[in-house]
Amino acid sequence: MAKSKKKMSPALDFNTQWRYKPAPENSDHIQIQKAYDLFINNEFIPPVNADYFPTINPATGKKIADIAQAENIDIDKAVVAASKALKAWQKIGAVERGKYLFRIARLIQERAREFAVIESLDGGKPIRESKNIDIPLAAAHFFYHAGWADKLQYAFPNQTPKPVGVAAQIIPWNFPLLMAAWKIAPALATGNTVVLKPAETTPLTALKLAELIRESGLPSGVVNIVTGDGSAGAALVDHPMVNKIAFTGSTEVGKIIQRKLAGSAKKYTLELGGKGANIILEDAAIDQAVEGIINGIYFNQGHVCCAGSRLFVQESVAELVVRKLKDRMETLVVGDPLDKNTDIGAINSASQLRTIKKYIKKGIKDGAELYQSKCAIPGGKGYWCRPSLFTNVSQAHTIVQEEIFGPVLTLQTFRTLEEVLNKANNTFYGLSAGVWTDKGAKIFTMTRGLRAGVVWANTYNKFDPASPFGGYKESGIGREGGLHGLAGYLKF
Ligand code: NAD
Repeated sequence: MAKSKKKMSPALDFNTQWRYKPAPENSDHIQIQKAYDLFINNEFIPPVNADYFPTINPATGKKIADIAQAENIDIDKAVVAASKALKAWQKIGAVERGKYLFRIARLIQERAREFAVIESLDGGKPIRESKNIDIPLAAAHFFYHAGWADKLQYAFPNQTPKPVGVAAQIIPWNFPLLMAAWKIAPALATGNTVVLKPAETTPLTALKLAELIRESGLPSGVVNIVTGDGSAGAALVDHPMVNKIAFTGSTEVGKIIQRKLAGSAKKYTLELGGKGANIILEDAAIDQAVEGIINGIYFNQGHVCCAGSRLFVQESVAELVVRKLKDRMETLVVGDPLDKNTDIGAINSASQLRTIKKYIKKGIKDGAELYQSKCAIPGGKGYWCRPSLFTNVSQAHTIVQEEIFGPVLTLQTFRTLEEVLNKANNTFYGLSAGVWTDKGAKIFTMTRGLRAGVVWANTYNKFDPASPFGGYKESGIGREGGLHGLAGYLKF
């Protein structure tokens, strides 16, 4: 048979033919100072040693501002301020405390755009996420806890809960404002005072929150915000006047803190790392599941403790899922965090990019097969990583066992529910998991069998202030959010 001479049209290339024009968020209205001091007693005061470090825009590699490095003596000032404020804060009464929380929530809403832009500038996350997820959820945490402030006797009937005292709160860089809200709101609602330390690479929205807290008229010393590296966090943990430590960060640092606190009377909650299993059963709605996989691992550059970084797909649909997943990966836009078209922004820091690259190298060395989308990435001095997928991996691979905290997914297949439960639970972590299936009964079998603090069914990465969040095993101790989170700030 004669071959058709008809010319084939060239393959469609998303990056050249389908890309939208850049749509950067306006940042003209943003006011960022050249340098930020420590927020103690509702005042910004310089650190005693006059020591500052730069906070960098990860999309450009350029400095945004200088940030105070707190020394032990500064930390002491902040803790003493929080301790002195306790009495007045408790005397003010629960109804009034609730009103302050409502006011802070409303002020966050009013300045949502400013917070969103600063979050994306300082942390590298796409503006779509800062605007639609981080900032609204931060306000929601204040609203939710405002409601509880004068209803604790209903939350804990037949008990007389009392505040624990001064809460030292140490947070990571992946959800800076949200983590601050997640920690400050329940502490204040339950009558405690706070010293919060943001991560060294993303202090700006916490410092903006300090400005807003002062504007809200909150009595001085109730919330203090100190900046600095791990040594400032360690000084907070060690301070004898601190009554509760609320830490979110790596398992490595969580272990150091837990060892320090052994035998002490300090209360603590530790929200640590994760290696979430996202499990696709053969009867799942495959297109939705593929969106769930993308959202589970590529959301916020994979800088998510509960990311679905281990994908398990039932053998009969594996080929189809991999094909659709790779097609979808090709459509993801890596680029300017302030551009509304961007799906994957900048990796948070040079050191985090090095860590991700180290794991990608290790995966290849161990024999796994790497697929990375072919999208263009911006030039310049920013930190970027294409969405990456490893196939041909087994449980023994380092990239399957260790938290990478970047847009890197591993894929394994399975035949039975029993097999996938064994594989999913075969990890030191136990923070999150996802299950995709058409059958309610299978959801219950899986959720009962999975050793993870949060299990999503037919969705992924959904958060709500009313829902307790926390991990099993090396993913942490205690819960934040909901009534369980409130209980962590109370003595019974
Ligand atoms: P990290 O542990 O390096 O730092 C977290 C915070 O602890 C920072 O503010 C840091 O300055 C401070 N710190 C460092 N050393 C300290 C010490 N010895 N004593 C007291 N404080 C110290 O973590 P990171 O790299 O900023 O964040 C990423 C990690 O956070 C990931 O492992 C991620 O899974 C985890 N995380 C967990 C949750 C959760 O809810 N479980 C949420 C977000 C992030």
